[in-house]
Amino acid sequence: MSVRSQNGLRKRVEKYILPLVHKPGRYLGTEINRACKPWEEAEVRFCLLFPDLYEIGMSHLGLHILYSIVNDTSWALADRAYCPDTDMEKRLRQEKLPLWGLETGQGLKDFDILAITLPYELCYSNILTMLDLANIPLFSGERLKGEWPLILGGGSCSVQPEPVADFFDAILIGDGEEKIIEIGKLVKEAKGQKIPKGEILRRLSKIQGVYVPSLYKPIYANGIFKEIEPRGADTPEMVERAILPDLDKAPFPSAPLLPTISVVHDRLGLEIARGCTRGCRFCQAGITYRPVRERAISTVLEMADRGLESTGWEELSLLSLSTGDYSCITTLIEAITTKYLPQKTAVSLPSLRVGTLTPRIMELIRGIRKTGFTLAPEAGSERLRKAINKGITEEDLLKTAEEAFKQGWSNIKLYFMIGLPTETQDDVTAIGELARKVLATASKGQVTISVGTFVPKPHTPFQWERQISEEESRRRLQFLKKNLGSRAIKMKWHDPRQSFLEGIFSRGDRRLAKVLHKAWQKGARLDAWTDRLDTALYAEAAKEEGLDIDVLLLERDPHGPLPWDHISMGVETHFLRSERRRARELAYTSDCRTNKCHKCGVCDFKQIKPVVQKKCTSTPIQKPVTLEKVKDETQSHTILLTYSKLGLARFLGHLDILHAFHRAIRRAHLPVAYSQGFHPMPKVSFGRPIPLGTESLVEKAAMVLTEPIDMKQIAGSLNKTMPEGVHIEEASAVTGKKALTEAVTTRYLILPFNSNRNRIDAALGLFHESKEWMVKIVRKNRILSLNAKEVFSDVELVDPKMIDPKIRDRWEPLEEAIEKSLFLITISLIQRDTAQIKPSEFIKTLLKQSEEESKLNRILKIGQERPRSSF
Ligand code: SF4
Repeated sequence: MSVRSQNGLRKRVEKYILPLVHKPGRYLGTEINRACKPWEEAEVRFCLLFPDLYEIGMSHLGLHILYSIVNDTSWALADRAYCPDTDMEKRLRQEKLPLWGLETGQGLKDFDILAITLPYELCYSNILTMLDLANIPLFSGERLKGEWPLILGGGSCSVQPEPVADFFDAILIGDGEEKIIEIGKLVKEAKGQKIPKGEILRRLSKIQGVYVPSLYKPIYANGIFKEIEPRGADTPEMVERAILPDLDKAPFPSAPLLPTISVVHDRLGLEIARGCTRGCRFCQAGITYRPVRERAISTVLEMADRGLESTGWEELSLLSLSTGDYSCITTLIEAITTKYLPQKTAVSLPSLRVGTLTPRIMELIRGIRKTGFTLAPEAGSERLRKAINKGITEEDLLKTAEEAFKQGWSNIKLYFMIGLPTETQDDVTAIGELARKVLATASKGQVTISVGTFVPKPHTPFQWERQISEEESRRRLQFLKKNLGSRAIKMKWHDPRQSFLEGIFSRGDRRLAKVLHKAWQKGARLDAWTDRLDTALYAEAAKEEGLDIDVLLLERDPHGPLPWDHISMGVETHFLRSERRRARELAYTSDCRTNKCHKCGVCDFKQIKPVVQKKCTSTPIQKPVTLEKVKDETQSHTILLTYSKLGLARFLGHLDILHAFHRAIRRAHLPVAYSQGFHPMPKVSFGRPIPLGTESLVEKAAMVLTEPIDMKQIAGSLNKTMPEGVHIEEASAVTGKKALTEAVTTRYLILPFNSNRNRIDAALGLFHESKEWMVKIVRKNRILSLNAKEVFSDVELVDPKMIDPKIRDRWEPLEEAIEKSLFLITISLIQRDTAQIKPSEFIKTLLKQSEEESKLNRILKIGQERPRSSF
């Protein structure tokens, strides 16, 4: 029995909460490749928290890396938790249930370390939601006494942790691969020796990259931030960021977690390099991840092989801050496309830099394009691009755009920022002009401009600059919208409210913790989602705290104190000041990976130095494993699969099941046929989808293979790689060209929620006596009234003890029904092509259940009769 099934909390969530929430697939913890390490055997238990929804968190590479590193450590385990949506939050509070680790089913309070990613400022309120739902005091000062997990922060925003510092015991700044285990070891020893919390924190502060906020005191004078002072003599004055010297040797997940539902980046992400030294003066990552460290081409190809083999993903993505700058990019793309395109694996690349797009690269990516062609000039005018050190000339940009249109792209996307330092009205006007010039390079095409507001980021040459106000941002966006000048130019923009909040938290000091706390108490949730964001809550909170947050957007004195002065990225402040000055002089600073060192201060040139690949040769390309395209439909072999969908799998939607099948087929190396075209899809078709929450023993899918395969081998190999709860019951060959035919009659077994025998008996009596039984259903925003008597037959009460033992052994709710002497209902549904009453809708009306009660019914599809002409 798995940990999950033994766990009461997990069971209660599954039974009483998941059926009632939106997208329950977010909360299952049944991902392929999950570690599920035994709780009792681990000496240190981490839970990795991502403070946003599952779809975002599962797309975050950093979390996957740490997850695999911790789980590869014999004495530790890592579980995961994502921020629940507000409906789940409400249910958990109603039921007084804590937030839990998805795999272990343990409340977050039971872990030793909660490692929280800080990926962007707009997720800060979600940290409070998660800690509060775990029943953990929010402020670190309230956790000094008592047994609480260590609350550890990390990730991109940790470089300026002050606005959230009060909530954390410790914050890891910099690369986490090595440090996470060092921290784990310290906690392991501390547990064994029962070391008090204060001493643990003191010891943690000695690890490079670890910041313990409670050991530092912010000083204010007349309400203005003055400095941060270490509290003890042995507290380091500066917290030096942790740097991983050799990325190529760093661990990388060989079997990444495969999401159960569609996520934002639903593909294999391969980090080919870390750091970028192009020197864009607005870019925080360009400073905080220095120097450039590239992986060897052979390592990237090995990562691709292992990742695709273990997941079956149909797409891979080459990731880095500037993928086009990877030294061996042409060789790499050539090697990847040669190997994986025949396997129908798509390759996606983030926006490539204008200067790096050689005709050869464009030719290669033309064959693998998934989306539009993206370029990021950032500023409209040549002058402003010089000021920000973008290093792109208009001529190069237009040449690239022209080539892209010529190669067949029909839509070019351009990224811009408004509000950049020194921006004038002419610069804003130039954005529209540049878009029109790009459009003019095409005989027929479209341009989409995507516009964000510049947010000055700590540790950058522009950290002292002002941020334009929300109103000014709106005005400039409005101007752009009005002056696009062509219907073929579309515009998208980042919500100025979000940029405002991001600006406040980017450069605020520790006093913002109280503002955040108050705004969260007032209801701030999921701020990165424009439909949820309510900046008025922050304005009210700041007012109540007596803090003028608007001043945080103003220009700062380049020689004055900053709230992040005690956090060192390794880059010297005088380098940042000089870059700021050079921006005004429109002076270009070259990329140190290929030019001279500009002495920014990061490298010691012993351990820490730029690592770029010199030899651009790839390992010999292996022959594609399988999956040749079907040339002639008559050569195909159609296989009918009967599969069950039980337990937690009932919370997977039809699309999730479809993806699970596609990926299981790829993992099993079945020679499936593919459709033609730019996005070839495996030839797998499914019967009519069952509603979310309904289970089934008799689902059908048909799959076309390009060569015959032993039937037993098909079911066996697929079942090794299917998600929990999905099982291939039978595989049989079908001769001739037959479509997947719908059943005529479908039989269901229903365990009604909270219904005793008398209630069911009375309802069935009424149903059988009446001539018609009208049920109101909503389809496509229309209310329909249908007669259930015409489609439902054999509506009967059943004693669970009389159910076929084969079903009894498979369907978990029957155990409880027998134990509690509950009765079930069987129904037969005549399938029609017109609007249909679902079994759940029928039972709801039959038993006069509330909406909520009806969702808690358990429904199992147990059989279907098919017309003679079908399978
Ligand atoms: S120290 Fe020199 S080589 Fe190293 S990142 Fe800075 S500018 Fe580049």
